[in-house]
Amino acid sequence: MFDDAAMLTKASTMSTFDPDLDTPRARHRPRNAFGDKVAEYHRLVANPLPAILGLVAAWAVLHYSLRTRNLPVFVVALVLIALCPLLIQYHCLDCGLTDFAIRSRGHACQETQRRWRLGEASARTPPRLRTQIKAWIWSLFTALLVYAILVGIHL
Ligand SMILES: [Zn+2]
Repeated sequence: MFDDAAMLTKASTMSTFDPDLDTPRARHRPRNAFGDKVAEYHRLVANPLPAILGLVAAWAVLHYSLRTRNLPVFVVALVLIALCPLLIQYHCLDCGLTDFAIRSRGHACQETQRRWRLGEASARTPPRLRTQIKAWIWSLFTALLVYAILVGIHL
Protein backbone atom coordinates (compact mmCIF):
# COMPACT_ATOMS: atom_id res chain seq x y z
CA MET A 1 0.00 0.00 0.00
CA PHE A 2 2.79 2.41 0.87
CA ASP A 3 4.63 1.33 -2.26
CA ASP A 4 1.69 2.39 -4.43
CA ALA A 5 1.48 5.77 -2.71
CA ALA A 6 5.23 6.28 -3.03
CA MET A 7 5.15 5.29 -6.70
CA LEU A 8 2.23 7.64 -7.32
CA THR A 9 4.05 10.51 -5.61
CA LYS A 10 7.25 9.77 -7.49
CA ALA A 11 5.41 9.58 -10.82
CA SER A 12 3.65 12.89 -10.22
CA THR A 13 6.93 14.68 -9.43
CA MET A 14 8.85 13.23 -12.37
CA SER A 15 9.51 15.52 -15.27
CA THR A 16 8.33 14.69 -18.75
CA PHE A 17 11.56 16.05 -20.17
CA ASP A 18 13.76 13.38 -21.78
CA PRO A 19 17.29 14.64 -22.51
CA ASP A 20 17.76 12.03 -25.24
CA LEU A 21 14.58 12.79 -27.16
CA ASP A 22 13.58 16.38 -26.33
CA THR A 23 15.35 19.50 -27.48
CA PRO A 24 17.21 21.34 -24.73
CA ARG A 25 15.24 24.04 -22.98
CA ALA A 26 16.45 27.59 -23.05
CA ARG A 27 18.29 28.37 -19.86
CA HIS A 28 17.13 31.34 -17.86
CA ARG A 29 19.73 34.07 -18.02
CA PRO A 30 19.53 36.88 -15.48
CA ARG A 31 19.54 40.40 -16.84
CA ASN A 32 22.37 41.40 -14.62
CA ALA A 33 24.48 39.61 -12.08
CA PHE A 34 22.53 41.14 -9.20
CA GLY A 35 18.99 40.29 -10.27
CA ASP A 36 16.12 42.63 -10.94
CA LYS A 37 16.17 43.92 -7.36
CA VAL A 38 19.18 46.13 -8.09
CA ALA A 39 16.86 48.58 -9.85
CA GLU A 40 15.58 49.65 -6.44
CA TYR A 41 19.05 50.95 -5.60
CA HIS A 42 19.64 52.91 -8.80
CA ARG A 43 19.81 56.68 -8.71
CA LEU A 44 18.87 57.41 -12.31
CA VAL A 45 17.41 60.52 -13.92
CA ALA A 46 15.44 60.23 -17.14
CA ASN A 47 16.40 62.40 -20.10
CA PRO A 48 13.57 62.52 -22.66
CA LEU A 49 15.10 65.29 -24.81
CA PRO A 50 16.39 62.97 -27.60
CA ALA A 51 12.98 61.30 -27.79
CA ILE A 52 11.22 64.68 -27.91
CA LEU A 53 13.51 65.83 -30.72
CA GLY A 54 12.80 62.56 -32.53
CA LEU A 55 9.08 63.15 -32.08
CA VAL A 56 9.38 66.64 -33.55
CA ALA A 57 11.27 65.24 -36.55
CA ALA A 58 8.74 62.43 -36.96
CA TRP A 59 5.92 64.97 -36.65
CA ALA A 60 7.50 66.99 -39.49
CA VAL A 61 7.71 63.87 -41.64
CA LEU A 62 4.09 63.02 -40.80
CA HIS A 63 3.00 66.56 -41.63
CA TYR A 64 4.84 66.41 -44.96
CA SER A 65 3.32 63.01 -45.82
CA LEU A 66 -0.18 64.26 -45.13
CA ARG A 67 0.36 67.40 -47.19
CA THR A 68 1.71 65.48 -50.17
CA ARG A 69 -0.58 62.46 -49.63
CA ASN A 70 2.39 60.12 -49.82
CA LEU A 71 1.62 56.74 -48.24
CA PRO A 72 5.20 55.34 -47.99
CA VAL A 73 6.39 58.49 -46.23
CA PHE A 74 3.35 58.30 -43.96
CA VAL A 75 4.26 54.73 -42.98
CA VAL A 76 7.87 55.82 -42.36
CA ALA A 77 6.58 58.61 -40.13
CA LEU A 78 4.50 56.14 -38.10
CA VAL A 79 7.52 53.86 -37.70
CA LEU A 80 9.61 56.83 -36.58
CA ILE A 81 6.99 57.80 -34.02
CA ALA A 82 6.90 54.22 -32.73
CA LEU A 83 10.70 54.18 -32.38
CA CYS A 84 10.94 57.47 -30.49
CA PRO A 85 10.49 55.94 -27.00
CA LEU A 86 13.70 53.99 -27.60
CA LEU A 87 15.58 57.31 -27.63
CA ILE A 88 14.80 58.07 -23.98
CA GLN A 89 18.04 58.16 -22.01
CA TYR A 90 19.01 57.90 -18.38
CA HIS A 91 21.80 59.52 -16.42
CA CYS A 92 23.26 57.80 -13.37
CA LEU A 93 23.82 60.18 -10.47
CA ASP A 94 26.49 57.90 -8.99
CA CYS A 95 28.87 57.17 -11.88
CA GLY A 96 27.75 59.80 -14.39
CA LEU A 97 26.98 57.30 -17.13
CA THR A 98 24.41 58.28 -19.76
CA ASP A 99 22.81 55.48 -21.76
CA PHE A 100 19.50 54.49 -23.33
CA ALA A 101 16.73 53.77 -20.86
CA ILE A 102 15.96 50.36 -22.33
CA ARG A 103 19.36 49.24 -21.05
CA SER A 104 18.95 50.68 -17.54
CA ARG A 105 18.21 47.32 -15.91
CA GLY A 106 21.66 46.08 -16.79
CA HIS A 107 23.35 49.04 -15.13
CA ALA A 108 25.11 48.19 -11.88
CA CYS A 109 27.93 50.58 -11.08
CA GLN A 110 30.01 50.22 -7.92
CA GLU A 111 27.92 52.61 -5.83
CA THR A 112 24.72 50.83 -6.85
CA GLN A 113 26.31 47.48 -6.00
CA ARG A 114 27.42 48.81 -2.63
CA ARG A 115 23.89 49.99 -1.76
CA TRP A 116 22.49 46.70 -3.01
CA ARG A 117 24.90 44.66 -0.85
CA LEU A 118 24.21 46.73 2.25
CA GLY A 119 20.50 46.93 1.50
CA GLU A 120 20.47 50.66 2.13
CA ALA A 121 18.28 52.92 0.12
CA SER A 122 19.61 56.42 -0.40
CA ALA A 123 17.74 59.14 1.43
CA ARG A 124 17.63 61.41 -1.61
CA THR A 125 16.80 58.91 -4.32
CA PRO A 126 14.92 60.25 -7.32
CA PRO A 127 11.75 58.38 -8.33
CA ARG A 128 12.31 55.15 -10.24
CA LEU A 129 13.20 55.58 -13.90
CA ARG A 130 9.90 54.07 -15.05
CA THR A 131 7.96 56.56 -12.94
CA GLN A 132 9.98 59.46 -14.32
CA ILE A 133 9.38 58.32 -17.90
CA LYS A 134 5.64 58.00 -17.26
CA ALA A 135 5.61 61.49 -15.76
CA TRP A 136 7.42 62.88 -18.80
CA ILE A 137 5.03 61.15 -21.21
CA TRP A 138 1.99 62.49 -19.34
CA SER A 139 3.52 65.97 -19.23
CA LEU A 140 4.20 65.88 -22.95
CA PHE A 141 0.71 64.58 -23.68
CA THR A 142 -0.84 67.30 -21.52
CA ALA A 143 1.29 70.00 -23.15
CA LEU A 144 0.28 68.81 -26.62
CA LEU A 145 -3.37 68.68 -25.61
CA VAL A 146 -3.27 72.21 -24.22
CA TYR A 147 -1.47 73.38 -27.36
CA ALA A 148 -4.07 71.70 -29.57
CA ILE A 149 -6.90 73.30 -27.62
CA LEU A 150 -5.41 76.79 -27.53
CA VAL A 151 -3.96 77.03 -31.02
CA GLY A 152 -5.62 74.22 -32.92
CA ILE A 153 -3.92 71.71 -35.14
CA HIS A 154 -3.83 72.70 -38.80
CA LEU A 155 -2.37 70.00 -40.98
ZN1 LIG B 1 25.97 54.29 -12.16
